[in-house]
Amino acid sequence: MRIIIFGPPGAGKGTQAKLLSDAYNIPHLSTGEIFRTAIKNKTDLGKKVTSILDAGELVPDEIVVALVKEELKKEKYHDGYILDGFPRTVAQAKAYDNFLKEQGKSLYAFILLRVPQKELIDRILSRGEGRSDDSEEKIKTRLEVYWNETLPVQEHYQEQGLVEEIDGVGSVEDIFSRIKSTLE
Ligand code: ADP
Repeated sequence: MRIIIFGPPGAGKGTQAKLLSDAYNIPHLSTGEIFRTAIKNKTDLGKKVTSILDAGELVPDEIVVALVKEELKKEKYHDGYILDGFPRTVAQAKAYDNFLKEQGKSLYAFILLRVPQKELIDRILSRGEGRSDDSEEKIKTRLEVYWNETLPVQEHYQEQGLVEEIDGVGSVEDIFSRIKSTLE
């Protein structure tokens, strides 16, 4: 089962992706986490993307696409996975579609988590993960980037009839049940 979990910053993608990963026993691939780990470990990739993540901007498509493709070729992803934070631009979505086609595989579902903007900002400010991009100003940039560059990805998958909208307001458990019943 190949699933994309999609939504604005603060929608709860990472939380739900982890639960899905445990429930279905498939790996969770978060591009944001890969970048944060690379920054922490001061790898070449980390050095390249530090200022981009700090600013709340997007890492260039070529870098992200190459990284995701390389990762998804690993054995552990062969039976399925949950993508969190990718694709984030239409160019990334197209590159991913081609990658799937090359592999003779298909996407099972595109889960859209819907949360009102005001709640997104409150959630990020109160989650206190200590991320350098979690200040009020950076959150505004990330939301703007989301509306301008990432939202069109939803239309892209709408055209393929894969989008499942989930109400992302409520307890973690309730939202998870909604996702599970939609998938089943
Ligand atoms: P959030 O959804 O809360 O913004 P993520 O962990 O998904 O958090 O992403 C954090 C940051 O990592 C983004 O603001 C961006 O700089 C970078 N990033 C993650 N995934 C991508 C991607 N697919 N394309 C470009 N940049 C990305």
